[in-house]
Amino acid sequence: MKSLTKYLWFNTKTRRAYINITDEVEKAVKESGVKEGLCLVNAMHITASVYINDDESGLISDFDDFLEKLAPHEPISKYRHNRTGEDNGDAHIKRQIMGREVVVAITDGKLDLGPWEQIFYGEFDGRRRKRVLIKIIGE
Ligand code: ZN
Repeated sequence: MKSLTKYLWFNTKTRRAYINITDEVEKAVKESGVKEGLCLVNAMHITASVYINDDESGLISDFDDFLEKLAPHEPISKYRHNRTGEDNGDAHIKRQIMGREVVVAITDGKLDLGPWEQIFYGEFDGRRRKRVLIKIIGE
């Protein structure tokens, strides 16, 4: 069995960001030499997500509006979590909605994504260094 472990680092300029990481994950698959297997991609922080959806700017804004409506960043005092002195109560909830990880099949040496499927890093409490794990296993 072959395997590859890789970390992608992020430090977004904005509090929230949605970054297409499909090419970087595809690169890791190529690097692994795996032809048939599985690729796990997960956010390693509890205020960020990895999810799969369309890379369409209107949809990305719709996601952001939806998340802000459900769990608005302000008022910060709205969240009991922020009594710890943090201000990211909303970001934990946004992460839970958008998910922690994705698993994509590798077929014939490539990510076997459906039509329009793209892998995204969703940041909900940025402006600091955070990472994503890529773990590839197969033959
Ligand atoms: Zn927190």
